[in-house]
Amino acid sequence: MTETLTINIHRSPVSRLGELDPANIEFGKLFSDHMFAVDFVNGEWQEPQIVPYGDMAVSPANSALHYGQAIFEGMKAYRTAQGGVALFRPLDNLLRLNASAERMCMPALPEELFMQGLTQLVRLDAAWVPEAADTALYIRPFMFATDGLLGVRPSDTYRFMIITCPVGAFYNKPLRVRFEEKYVRSAEGGAGYAKNAGNYGAAMYPTKLAQQQGYNQLIWTDASEHRYVEESGTMNAIFVINNRIITPALSSSILDGITRRSVLQLARDWGMPVEERKVSTHEIIEALQTGTLQEAFGVGTAATIAPITAIGYEGHDYELAAVDNSAFSRRAAAALQAIRTGEAEDSHRWMVE
Ligand code: PMP
Repeated sequence: MTETLTINIHRSPVSRLGELDPANIEFGKLFSDHMFAVDFVNGEWQEPQIVPYGDMAVSPANSALHYGQAIFEGMKAYRTAQGGVALFRPLDNLLRLNASAERMCMPALPEELFMQGLTQLVRLDAAWVPEAADTALYIRPFMFATDGLLGVRPSDTYRFMIITCPVGAFYNKPLRVRFEEKYVRSAEGGAGYAKNAGNYGAAMYPTKLAQQQGYNQLIWTDASEHRYVEESGTMNAIFVINNRIITPALSSSILDGITRRSVLQLARDWGMPVEERKVSTHEIIEALQTGTLQEAFGVGTAATIAPITAIGYEGHDYELAAVDNSAFSRRAAAALQAIRTGEAEDSHRWMVE
């Protein structure tokens, strides 16, 4: 970001902030006053705009609607203890967005466009960043094909947008999960490492079945054998066995989570052994049975850390021991929170004011 990109700003004449009940925020329902939008036409990104949040027109033949050329990101801005607003690792989200774009034959977004769009939008709607502990402004950057043509081929035109919404404190009720032994989220060589819309639509049915069986979420396993752990719903999975931090190694079927990366970094900072490798469902069940599985949890932007309290496998539910206050996951969650609010030193320079 060397110079300030000119963004056309059409301010909303009225703010909807009065509609927000800070004590009762439903995720993803009430959006901030403005949104950022820029179109890709004739092989170039056009003039970026910030306009009042609202509906927009698309062609009924819009190829994103028919063939799913659509990608997104999820990130947050936090209110700091000093009263400012800071973004958590935004460039990591841009890199991942562009990796998703490449996989989906979509154009890369230049860093300046992303960072200026993001910072100017968040600055304009800064009053929407909630102040209570554990709250944040959720930020949803996304890109979709805009050609109104039914041919099955990459679109020539695209729109990149950013919308934001305040999110309340995430209640970390421990999750009951089960290993998924029939359906798959993604396979080696597929698009699991990308945040393309179709990955999420296709995960809804198996997730609904698990929920009907009384689980909150499922743990995806590999596509060929259902033997190795992949991810926990829309979070990466981390286990603590014998004081070692163990997580499935990244692959083309696993999303490279920014929370995962951050939690592993903290573990390394604290001198704990970290193993990124294949983790079999048998290893986890055996560790549960022998009492060496100390913690299991999901990590992602929405919850930061979601502890797991039970794992279902081959029709049996295995209960985990309750984690105590000194547990690694609690320590990591508190450390991340302190970095995000500016209460702890940001030694890895993760925050962008
Ligand atoms: N896996 C999947 C499939 C996800 O959708 C997400 C959420 N982006 C994650 C993992 C966690 O990634 P992050 O920590 O970057 O939110």
